[in-house]
Amino acid sequence: MEIKIRTAAPGQMKQKPTDESQLGFGGIFTDHFFIVEYTEGTGWHDASIEPYRPLPLDPAAMCLHYGQLIFEGMKAYRGKDNSIYLFRPDMNIARMNASAERLVMATIDPDLFKEGLTKLVLLEKDWIPRSSGTSLYIRPTMAATEKALGVHPSSEYLFYIILCPVGAYYPQGFSPTKIYVSEEFVRAVRGGVGYCKAAGNYAASLYAAEKAKKMGYTQVLWLDAVEKKYVEEVGTSNIFFLIDDELITPPLSGSILPGVTRESVIQMARHWGMTVSERPLSMDEILDAHAKGTIRDCFASGTAAIVSPVGQIYFKGKEYAINNGEIGELTKRLYNEILQIQYGEKDDPFGWRVKIA
Ligand SMILES: *Cc1c(COP(=O)(O)O)cnc(C)c1O
Repeated sequence: MEIKIRTAAPGQMKQKPTDESQLGFGGIFTDHFFIVEYTEGTGWHDASIEPYRPLPLDPAAMCLHYGQLIFEGMKAYRGKDNSIYLFRPDMNIARMNASAERLVMATIDPDLFKEGLTKLVLLEKDWIPRSSGTSLYIRPTMAATEKALGVHPSSEYLFYIILCPVGAYYPQGFSPTKIYVSEEFVRAVRGGVGYCKAAGNYAASLYAAEKAKKMGYTQVLWLDAVEKKYVEEVGTSNIFFLIDDELITPPLSGSILPGVTRESVIQMARHWGMTVSERPLSMDEILDAHAKGTIRDCFASGTAAIVSPVGQIYFKGKEYAINNGEIGELTKRLYNEILQIQYGEKDDPFGWRVKIA
């Protein structure tokens, strides 16, 4: 399919941010977006890159009522020599389609996704910030747009990609997070849509997250919804514990988001010769290891931060310091190695990096 490109007139272009230390996350959008429509019977049609604009959306559009709404999160990175890289984009594209299948939405041709993404990022390349740790965040989104009430899969969808220049996650260096183990509320249940980047999952997480914030914690550590015994994820990131010499992360049981960073951490740690287990990890085992002093590291993984060290865990009225509140060596090493691969500063033995310019 041909992607039509209609660029904004020079007078329509936005002012680019000048102070990259003030970028923050998710508040600034570039001049253009990629958009393509789906109609049952016709398939995907009318792909274009156009000036960023509001969407025409009927008040009865099904995404506004029944939640067929999915998204992805990925980044474009600028190297020191001005090369532009993506990180494992095929995994995000496959995950978008896995989410689409589970929510009975239209899947998208991976080549069209990739072409739209690449052309858009290249058109907006001057928006990719330059300072260390900054990047261009990419948000592919798909929404059900059929105008109809009544619960059934929509016959029409919009797929679009918007871009945000984002600041460095750790401008002042690593800061360990305090996490709150939620016993009352759960994020997702096996058999549900926890493995999808489906909008409703995030709405469902807000209540517990607000409660944790009011109590002074950064994130919620979610437990499994059935026994409330095993750790699942932290906030919108995957979780890892290094206990003795075993790096442990929960298995992809259906309620956990299969993070691209999670998979990269697992591969990299195995490449270094570490023992990595994808297995159930209970709070009992964690508290036991804490009592024995064998928790050597704990971190969350995700595209936004790469890895984020956990300094403290709150569970059943008690606080447990991890590794005496110090940032683990493994967290630091993973952060540096993955970041250097993403920014083209190091060989990429895994073939993760995709150079687009
Ligand atoms: C996006 C996300 C992650 C992390 O996935 P990455 O691909 O590593 O960014 C983990 N958990 C949840 C719930 C998420 O939404």
